[in-house]
Amino acid sequence: MNIQTALLQGQQLLDDARVAAPRLTAEVLLAHAIGCDRPWLYAHSDEELRELWWIHYGRYLHQRIKGKPTQYITGLQEFYGREFRVTPDVLIPRPETEHSVEAALAIGGSRIVDIGTGSGAIGATLALELKVPVVCTDISEAAVRVATANARRLEAPARCVVCDLGSALASGAFDLVVCNPPYIPESDSAGIQREVRDYEPHVALFGGPAGIEIYRRLIPDAARLLQPGGHLVMEIGWKEAENVSAMLGAWADTWTSVEITPDLAGIPRVVSAKRAPAPRL
Ligand code: GLN
Repeated sequence: MNIQTALLQGQQLLDDARVAAPRLTAEVLLAHAIGCDRPWLYAHSDEELRELWWIHYGRYLHQRIKGKPTQYITGLQEFYGREFRVTPDVLIPRPETEHSVEAALAIGGSRIVDIGTGSGAIGATLALELKVPVVCTDISEAAVRVATANARRLEAPARCVVCDLGSALASGAFDLVVCNPPYIPESDSAGIQREVRDYEPHVALFGGPAGIEIYRRLIPDAARLLQPGGHLVMEIGWKEAENVSAMLGAWADTWTSVEITPDLAGIPRVVSAKRAPAPRL
């Protein structure tokens, strides 16, 4: 069998199993099995598949059809123009999280923390874009190992620490806190895609029964970490904008300039706020 036929057959199997983007997925999986890039497949479409390639390709197709996300098969996800390694210990970075990066870049900062870093996507990106050291935290030791390896590979000046939110970090030490917390309501778990529910780490997905519980701990912790005038940038789930801004509003002497940015689908996705300057006494 040649490459062209293998792609067609893979595409068909994926399509029959109702996997999204069957052609693209077949190409990514075959390229991964061969150890080449996708353009190579087109330049060699008449080449015979070697036995080892076929064995790997078959296994990857099977895993994808069972529901495993392509990124956990290839171990890779692109984020903000860079390639991050991902394992099932970390959330696969989402394109919409680039909005949080953009909000953070627009604000800037020189002492930055990325809380709940996962793969390190946000923290390493900010460190490289702003050329400043970034501290990344995660409650999962396994995630911190992935983030550390990504930062090292990308040569990002990011230091990764295992702790709950920012609990290991000094008060008032930062001018920018960024966080993509787990925010899916536990009550939604039956309704979410099986690729997400059955394969991604629940500690990175579910934010409590209503989803927003995590913000009740995150917002005060960010207030503690930030110096007056510093900024907080958080990703939120759909339907959460009102509740999260109300929480910031309830601490009106601590937070000002609350802003909500929608994603490309028009869904409120990023909330940012400024830590109020210390009152003049
Ligand atoms: N945006 C992710 C999803 O809907 C959830 C990530 C998160 O909880 N931070 O799959």
